Amino acid sequence: MTKVFYDNTVTEDALQGKKIAVIGYGSQGHAHSQNLKDNGYDVVIGIRPGKSFDQAKEDGFEVYPVEEAVKQSDVVMILLPDEIQGQVYKEEIEPNLDEGNALVFAHGFNIHFKVIQPPENVDVFLVAPKGPGHLVRRTFAEGSAVPALYAVYQDATGKATQLALSYAKGIGATRAGVIGTSFEEETETDLFGEQAVLCGGVTKLIQSGFETLVEAGYQPEIAYFEVLHEMKLIVDLMYEGGMENMRYSISNTAEFGDYVSGERVITPDVKDNMKAVLKDIQTGAFSDRFIKDNENGFEEFLRMRKEQQGHQIESVGRDLRDMMPFVKAKSIQSK
Ligand code: NDP
Ligand code: MG
Ligand code: MG
Repeated sequence: MTKVFYDNTVTEDALQGKKIAVIGYGSQGHAHSQNLKDNGYDVVIGIRPGKSFDQAKEDGFEVYPVEEAVKQSDVVMILLPDEIQGQVYKEEIEPNLDEGNALVFAHGFNIHFKVIQPPENVDVFLVAPKGPGHLVRRTFAEGSAVPALYAVYQDATGKATQLALSYAKGIGATRAGVIGTSFEEETETDLFGEQAVLCGGVTKLIQSGFETLVEAGYQPEIAYFEVLHEMKLIVDLMYEGGMENMRYSISNTAEFGDYVSGERVITPDVKDNMKAVLKDIQTGAFSDRFIKDNENGFEEFLRMRKEQQGHQIESVGRDLRDMMPFVKAKSIQSK
């Protein structure tokens, strides 16, 4: 069993007395900086003028242009969108790093795919919460936490591992558990998980189920309930006690159907496709496509987003959620 670090196993505070610059104040940025500040650390925010800048000020932080924040600090946590990090790093971060500083990430993408090549005289590590930033903040405020991974890419000071664990404790993650990994493993498994299962796999599965019912003449509203709304209830049961707990809770009819039909839907060739997806991640084909599309004004990205937002399941869902007071309905305006 892999070693899991908790509050009581991270006793040395290598972060004490260090100034931390959190670069970016979005989903992860607001959570890391607020949690660190609540734990007594000296945090400044580095960001361009705009929405996040104003929000960070309003939340009581000292806010600076990225260069300034980096100059002042010992530890630089980069929480910009992955596709922006390379350019901001080159222009605003790298020229202002000092020997012995620490460069920190919440996802290994840019280091692993060599978009960012840091100098040898700084520590480089990652602390990656395994959950969205808003949950990282909310669970911390409630006294618990989202678990996290840590990995060290470069240990220039001899203190990088201790610093990574202290940072993980600083954002509260050791309350829930912190596990060691490598940049390669974190990056490739994170991308695979979101593409093949969590985001890409699940949305296509739900859409296909919805389309199958609607094309067979059933009401779209009923189809929405059966394949999307109930997904959360099923996932919650798996989250709490694995698949066996979910299967314990559902009817025998549902459980029998699960066994006989699951493998008709997710056939062995689906796993072959997953292997191909993993290969594209490992070879860098996926990251190249993402980075090139960003350079091209995200032409492919924005087209795919628009197409997906136009799917019937979205409009049906919007109307239904408005009718369900217990669902805290959220409306995402087309970005
Ligand atoms: P967001 O998109 O939520 O936030 C990005 C922040 O960067 C915003 O504050 C934005 O400010 C700012 N920004 C964008 N462009 C620039 C620029 N050119 N110069 C300065 N600031 C800029 O990012 P996430 O929190 O989602 O992602 C950050 C990192 O965390 C990524 O590496 C991601 O992979 C990782 N991660 C994210 C998770 C998540 O839950 N979202 C989970 C685990 C890891 P503005 O308001 O001005 O646009
Ligand atoms: Mg990810
Ligand atoms: Mg049912």
